[in-house]
Amino acid sequence: MLNILEIKQYDVINGPGIRCSIWVAGCNNHCEGCWSKHTWNPNQGRPLKECIPEIKNYLNNPKVTGVSILGGDPFYHLFNGDYNDVVTLLMLCHSYNKPVWVWTGYTKEEIDKRLQELRMPNLLTAFVDVLIDGRFDITKKDMNLKWRGSSNQRIIELNK
Ligand code: SF4
Repeated sequence: MLNILEIKQYDVINGPGIRCSIWVAGCNNHCEGCWSKHTWNPNQGRPLKECIPEIKNYLNNPKVTGVSILGGDPFYHLFNGDYNDVVTLLMLCHSYNKPVWVWTGYTKEEIDKRLQELRMPNLLTAFVDVLIDGRFDITKKDMNLKWRGSSNQRIIELNK
């Protein structure tokens, strides 16, 4: 079961414009120097189902111009257990026709391989506009980078 740690209606830090940001619980990437270890445990927060009305309400707000999905790792459940909630969350966010950005510690290549195994090869391109991928690498840490912590992480526009 996918749990949500936090939902912010107005976020101007994670991505361009005014965004609704959703933090998903669970991460087992164990990056050295991780600044959000409190998000690693997947068994905390509120179940996605319980949060859906709140997310819908925020995304209906015309002031909100985009959606950011962060963690933890929003794709933790794609690799560990029940991935249906990941699909539900992406579909829900995408349905408001506002750009969906996702931050993950997995690389796009790892995700694509997993999606092939799950027979959902087009999940990313169908529901995500921008993917910020890769584990945080403390040896490549750069405070000047926008929207990412280390230079190995990529900002990938999926439908370009
Ligand atoms: S992916 Fe993010 S939350 Fe997970 S260990 Fe790495 S830095 Fe921390």
